[in-house]
Amino acid sequence: MVDVHGGATDGPRTVTVLGSTGSIGKNTLDLIARNPGLYSVEALTANGNVDILAEQARRFGARLAVVADPSKYADLKAALAGSGTEAAAGPDALCEAAARPADCVMAAIVGAAGLQPTLEAVQRGATVALANKECLVCAGTLFMAAVAEHGATLLPVDSEHNAIFQVFDFDQKHRIDRIILTASGGPFRTWTREAMAAVTPEQAVAHPNWSMGAKISVDSATMMNKGLEFIEAHHIFGMPQEQIEILVHPQSVIHSMVAYEDGSVLAQLGTPDMRTPIAFTLGWPQRMAAPTARLDLGAIGALHFETPDGDRFPALGLVRDVLKAGGARPTILNAANEIAVAAFLGRQIRFLDIVALVERTVEHMTAPAPTTLDDVLAIDREARAVCTALVQDLAA
Ligand code: NAD
Ligand code: MG
Repeated sequence: MVDVHGGATDGPRTVTVLGSTGSIGKNTLDLIARNPGLYSVEALTANGNVDILAEQARRFGARLAVVADPSKYADLKAALAGSGTEAAAGPDALCEAAARPADCVMAAIVGAAGLQPTLEAVQRGATVALANKECLVCAGTLFMAAVAEHGATLLPVDSEHNAIFQVFDFDQKHRIDRIILTASGGPFRTWTREAMAAVTPEQAVAHPNWSMGAKISVDSATMMNKGLEFIEAHHIFGMPQEQIEILVHPQSVIHSMVAYEDGSVLAQLGTPDMRTPIAFTLGWPQRMAAPTARLDLGAIGALHFETPDGDRFPALGLVRDVLKAGGARPTILNAANEIAVAAFLGRQIRFLDIVALVERTVEHMTAPAPTTLDDVLAIDREARAVCTALVQDLAA
């Protein structure tokens, strides 16, 4: 057996996948399936898709499968009958799945719904592969304090942060001039605001380079995704916002860069396939193989870059303002964005309304910076209610 784990453990490494039925979850299980004998699955979780969850649990011999929606418990139990996989449902079971001992927890639930389970894993000092960027947007200070307090190991899965992690000299952080987050620009990179006004959900979820879940695809189309990643980078790498730059790079070959004081700029490159950063986190601290297309720069010929256009993509300026003003604003921004994206996907509001409603929700609410998880959850709930009311006003 090839030892990809630094010889730290004998036998397979245990992995829990929170959000196993989503895009990141499926890519994680794809890598596990391609490395028989190296990983064993502890727990898998999903929101409501019992059929996929039960099929995954059987295929990987998971010890536990959890569906977040409690009304789906009987279906899950029936689907797992005779499999040897324990079935459970509801928010507490989700947290219990995350808290179970496992060598690695892939945190791949979408949205603030992933915060509590991911924090559970952090609080037991786990190695957490973090895909769920919303955790850091809505509760970054708290989350990073918990990582430090409990000695958890945080491995970024988001391709930009994974790229930075690979070239970030943590021992000489004071020698880092800035980090450069690359952005594809999404499907409407070259569109006018007038053209964007008529965008449909189908057009917005059709990302030119990456295949992803619906929410992050819409976030990429508004460029709110890059804003969320800006906040994510600020927390993971402890960099002030003045030292974080956003650069549009439509080909998604350079996944991000770190610029040092001596003028050196280090980058991580690869074809756009999330199985590369996922493999980096699953294999950590060793490298493991991923079946992604090999990068052929000769065939690509030239790499292109542009300065982001804040007039056509106001989410970028909004996020900078929100991070600067601080307080509860990042939590409010995240919650409002989740509501607005869902309303757009449900055809209740138009594409350009998404960021406008997020901005109005941030302006409408005043709350002090959250200092506890309960504070975060209360602000999150209130922001969802405020934004939902704004959606209803617009739709009326
Ligand atoms: P997805 O929508 O494809 O999957 C989301 C998963 O979360 C599913 O398993 C779903 O069942 C589960 N889930 C949804 N709502 C839930 C709830 N309320 N409670 C419990 N579980 C719930 O999303 P995705 O594209 O895989 O993205 C997952 C996370 O990873 C997001 O935070 C996203 O920003 C981040 N991310 C994704 C990609 C990508 O390529 N897909 C890249 C970088 C970062
Ligand atoms: Mg990303």
